[in-house]
Amino acid sequence: MKAFTYERPTDANAALRAVAKPGARFLGGGTNLLDLMKVGVETPSHLVDVSRLPFAQIEETNDGGLRIGATVTNSDLAADGRVRQRYPMLSRAVLNGASGQLRNQATTAGNLLQRTRCYYFYDTSKPCNKRSPGSGCSALHGYNRIHAVLGASDACIAVHPSDMAVAMAALDAEVEVQSADAGSRKIRMGDLYRLPDKAPQKDTTLENGDLITAVSLPPPSSGGQVYRKVRDRASYDFALVSVAALVDLDGDRVRGARIAVGGVAPKPWRALDAEQQLMGKPANADSFIAAGTAAMAGARGYGHNDFKIALASRTVARALADAVQHRKG
Ligand code: SF4
Repeated sequence: MKAFTYERPTDANAALRAVAKPGARFLGGGTNLLDLMKVGVETPSHLVDVSRLPFAQIEETNDGGLRIGATVTNSDLAADGRVRQRYPMLSRAVLNGASGQLRNQATTAGNLLQRTRCYYFYDTSKPCNKRSPGSGCSALHGYNRIHAVLGASDACIAVHPSDMAVAMAALDAEVEVQSADAGSRKIRMGDLYRLPDKAPQKDTTLENGDLITAVSLPPPSSGGQVYRKVRDRASYDFALVSVAALVDLDGDRVRGARIAVGGVAPKPWRALDAEQQLMGKPANADSFIAAGTAAMAGARGYGHNDFKIALASRTVARALADAVQHRKG
């Protein structure tokens, strides 16, 4: 591992000053960054540990939502009674990620900013445009079973690995960001991640030196909500496909729906057309199967991952049906 220096500021302004140094990076729980440093994918010369910043609270907001501090651990987030009651898809999504030990260490902001688990990204002997821009994409014509079927480009077909981000996308969460130059601002979850296009090395729309301070959730919507994850190992694995779904009914018809799909794209994939298509439809299997098909419109497989298209369609349909059941209690 390349040698680095380390500091642990206790307020945001000190952290922002520290990260302005050349080669500096923020360090949260370290559950992804340290692994990347060990294999030489990330080589920061200075680490700014943000784990002691005063962002470890979950607070009520004036509009009836919740504000989740950036350093709230995944375990504390999943266990919070307000999250479990009002945003059950978020609690379930977090509990579906990693192991108990990792969730005790991983933070809210770090979870959002974790990097892809594409095998070639971690193998420094292989070309990878995300790790080494211009070198090529080994997955495009290689083993691509875990890769994207939506939103990819010929430069990169990696998926974003976070479960939590999928639920937050469905919940219309906003990320609060602080920077030394521009003060504070909010970014909608749908705008946090960028598609690879020709520059896959940049995962998000954040600028250098941006510090995530919190994630705010709007007031909870009525309706049932679920998080359903399909993975190779039930005990501990990243999603092949996951779905965060919310369904609200007016009688037996759909009054509102939210669908976000994980494991299929470089970002949590909000299926807005499928949501629209469901409005006013009977809440039955035919409507949900049609919505599952609509959610994957335009999907393209790369060989080993072709199965994901049908799997994701069926998982969307199943999650919608489950959400209706949850609504009925
Ligand atoms: Fe690298 Fe992306 Fe290709 Fe994986 S899919 S090898 S991360 S460029």
